[in-house]
Amino acid sequence: MPYVVQELSAHRDLAGFRTLVDCSFKATVLREGPAQDSGPGAAWLAYLCPVHSVDLDGWPGTADHADNGSMPCGTVLDYRSPEERLQSHADLWLTPLTGVDPQAYGGAWADVLDQAGRVLLARVEAAAGEDSPLQNMLAMMDVARRAAARGDLGVAAASLGYCETLAQGL
Ligand SMILES: [Zn+2]
Repeated sequence: MPYVVQELSAHRDLAGFRTLVDCSFKATVLREGPAQDSGPGAAWLAYLCPVHSVDLDGWPGTADHADNGSMPCGTVLDYRSPEERLQSHADLWLTPLTGVDPQAYGGAWADVLDQAGRVLLARVEAAAGEDSPLQNMLAMMDVARRAAARGDLGVAAASLGYCETLAQGL
């Protein structure tokens, strides 16, 4: 990790690695997310090209730093807790895609992911025979659901990271 990343993250351990956009350009901007609720360091760091640095919803930063192409555009280093990362996935794409709102489940992520998986399965079955990223997403949702059911929210959040990337193809 470059020194600037260690500094901006207050030397926290990287919790999640996400790819937000399908973009072939190298980053020119390292966007610093809001401060962590639980101490020093940014909640996330996002690498963005000139286009996506002005055209990316849902990732409001507190500062932009110059980057010389150290990562592909769309790469996010996420330092938040598993619960915060799951909530971020819900806010940005899972709830819009499935209609399943974690608020209605009182923080029971196993139930949220269970219901979201059911909605996705129903959609894949309704579109029988059609090739869709949703089919690939089902397998990763299943991993997320099982991980949450056994209390491993870190693995659940990582699995949703794969789903997030697949959702870009929808
Ligand atoms: Zn880009």
